[in-house]
Amino acid sequence: IKGKVYRTYAVFDEKMRSQKMRERQVENDIVSALENGELQLYVQPKVDMRDGRVIGGEALVRWKHPEKGLVPPREFIPVLEKNGFIINVDEYIWEKVFAYLGKLHREDRMLVPVSINVSRLHAYDEKLAETLIRLREEYDVPPEYVPLELTESAFLEDEAGMYRRMESLRERGFLVSMDDFGTGYSTMNMLKNQTLDEIKIDKEFIRDLEKDKSRIIIRNTIAMLQQLGVHIVIEGVETEEQKSFLLGCGCTDAQGFLFHRPMPVEAFDALLLQQECE
Ligand code: C2E
Ligand code: CA
Ligand code: CA
Ligand code: CA
Repeated sequence: IKGKVYRTYAVFDEKMRSQKMRERQVENDIVSALENGELQLYVQPKVDMRDGRVIGGEALVRWKHPEKGLVPPREFIPVLEKNGFIINVDEYIWEKVFAYLGKLHREDRMLVPVSINVSRLHAYDEKLAETLIRLREEYDVPPEYVPLELTESAFLEDEAGMYRRMESLRERGFLVSMDDFGTGYSTMNMLKNQTLDEIKIDKEFIRDLEKDKSRIIIRNTIAMLQQLGVHIVIEGVETEEQKSFLLGCGCTDAQGFLFHRPMPVEAFDALLLQQECE
């Protein structure tokens, strides 16, 4: 028995070690990734489903690793959230967003909002507001063009502190968007206690819209949010059926592969330019 237990632990240790090693690898690589410009700003367009016009975008990070190729966010963001490095990566991406919008502004182009993701860790950082205000001043971008996407779970701990920080950002003109709506635990409480400018309904709900239950939940959630006066964005629209159902519920704004996948900011810019010329 003793030998068996020992072996089990050995295997467990081995697993832990390789997990730790992978994390260490990401940690080491990300520093050089930032220095070598391997992190790139991608933008996924948000559209008005009635006519397909681009009404905004969401900033998403992409890592072009010299050996591994394109590393998806789910493989490195959780590690960076653990070690705190996500704050550096987010700020790097945010700066690119502000710089891009500042350029549009200077060139008298049509501005559209490009939302940024604020990691849970960052949302607790007292310096968050300071950073955002510095960026908006440095690049001369009106704050309402950079909505802040926060995931629902960010409100789990220190709810009161979070409401206070979000409120002070709203007073400064920033808009707060609740990401992954419906996947957390405190949805109803949050709706009651926090003024939200926008809610993004998670793609989990859109994926199984062929189920009667899902359709009931979505139709009524949309009605409720509309009565509360919150702007709604649907995430993960992939099919024409999903699109017509959602339009039938009175929802117009969406993000999804049916319309556009995330693209390099240069391609997003070309799309906007083309639309301006129409
Ligand atoms: P998210 O914030 O919920 O972002 C939306 C994700 O849904 C993106 O995945 C996008 O590509 C994907 N998506 C959009 N439409 C569809 C669709 O129709 N079908 C499917 N299957 N997927 C769709 P992505 O870019 O892989 O990002 C995954 C997550 O990683 C994001 O989820 C976000 O939580 C995080 N993330 C990405 N970039 C950043 C960043 O710069 N900072 C932070 N803190 N997190 C980021
Ligand atoms: Ca998001
Ligand atoms: Ca989301
Ligand atoms: Ca999500």
